[in-house]
Amino acid sequence: MAEPQRSLIKGGTIIAYRDGAHRLLEDGVLVFEGDRIVHVGPNYDGVAHRTIDAAGKLVIPGFVSTHAHVNVHEGTRLITDVGRRDVMRSGFLNYTPNNGINGPPYVAASLPDETTRFGFAQLIRNGITTVMAFGGGSPAAARAFAEHAGASGIRVYYAPQANSAVNYFDDDGRMREHWDESNGLAELDRQEAFIEENHERFDGRFQGIAVVRNYALATLDLLRRAKAMADRRGLVLTTHFCEQLFEFHRTVRDYGLTPVQLMDREGLLGPNVLLGHCIYIAGHSYTTWTFSSDIEILGRHQAAVAHAPLVMLRRGHAFEGFDRFLQAGVTMSIGTDVAPHNIIEEMRVGALACKLIARNNEVGTSLDFFNAATLGGAKAFGREDIGRLAPGAKADIVIMDFDNLQIGPIYDPIRSLVHFASPDLIETVICDGVTLLQDGELLNYDEAAVVEGGKRSFQKVIDEFPARHWSKRPVQSEYPLSLEAW
Ligand SMILES: [Zn+2]
Repeated sequence: MAEPQRSLIKGGTIIAYRDGAHRLLEDGVLVFEGDRIVHVGPNYDGVAHRTIDAAGKLVIPGFVSTHAHVNVHEGTRLITDVGRRDVMRSGFLNYTPNNGINGPPYVAASLPDETTRFGFAQLIRNGITTVMAFGGGSPAAARAFAEHAGASGIRVYYAPQANSAVNYFDDDGRMREHWDESNGLAELDRQEAFIEENHERFDGRFQGIAVVRNYALATLDLLRRAKAMADRRGLVLTTHFCEQLFEFHRTVRDYGLTPVQLMDREGLLGPNVLLGHCIYIAGHSYTTWTFSSDIEILGRHQAAVAHAPLVMLRRGHAFEGFDRFLQAGVTMSIGTDVAPHNIIEEMRVGALACKLIARNNEVGTSLDFFNAATLGGAKAFGREDIGRLAPGAKADIVIMDFDNLQIGPIYDPIRSLVHFASPDLIETVICDGVTLLQDGELLNYDEAAVVEGGKRSFQKVIDEFPARHWSKRPVQSEYPLSLEAW
């Protein structure tokens, strides 16, 4: 529980919120009490029980990551620079397919407690105080995940995902799909039961969300029912959407519509719909589809996009048109997707990629990306009380060392943050009025033990790889190391 005392942060550069936008407040004061900010301004005359000296610091709202897989990332660590060519650089298919129709994927060898703890600790280190976490598995696994979320101290949007199909590798290593429509609907029922049981737990930090794991692996019926559940319960619906090129062309072939047009026709778009990735839509150069304006359709519905630039760039492709999405009225937010959940780096590479793709240095501004990582994420979740430092907002606060060799002289704090900063400069993280990171030290976790646990989980996946992967070969044969051994 948050302390009932009044805490005062003063002396630094505060990115405060007023009249619909972030503002630059130099040498200001921020006061919070319990879980809420009660005052932000140039000065403060009231009483405070505790003062945090922020001289030389940057004070910003806690970041919001709208799309994340909270674990050590036993899979993605392997595939950078390599991976299967037949899935056209769409990395996740490289590692999640099951070994046979009913076999688990090789990452299922991970240690659930260790890998989850690692993920949450890492989110806090990166200044993320709100996250949308994907995950599946049994009801017991979902309950265990909720306990980890509660123990982390951050805000978590989560429910066990539903899907109508799975990808799997057959004995020859070909990737296949296995469809089981009734299983998808049963998963959605379990999802709703989980939400019923867990929504608003942990002082309201835990929030349910309607989750269809992947548009490409869902029937329209499952998507319709998930959207109806989201609308009925006042929740957000999220899914991985057009992360892969084949999704786009398959929908065009099957329906004569783009995926966005199909979602529009089926009533599956709206302000409470958060599309993960949303890369291959009309207008993206790889689709070669210039016959409709999907971005405008998304904007008309005020849908939200979870943009995770870094992981796509690692695969050699990119989201196109960040600036055009904003202009169209789409809510742009940032997802950190996979470890290391470095949202500062996501902002940076997202901005650089946007400029490069548009051949225009004036788009993809630092402010656009800072807004996406704060206010955009808040809007994607339909909230006006996070992603900002304003009276009445939740006390989700990050304090960074902003007077050092890395940052150097500052002209514009937002540009310095996006283009110069690194997560090691984050000293203090407060969520819901409770301090989770102080003087660079995690308070809810024994960091050394968390790191050791993450390594154990990873090693188990490596050790069991030949037994669990269709190839039956050691991991180094499938994913060669950069260097040959001495
Ligand atoms: Zn994802």
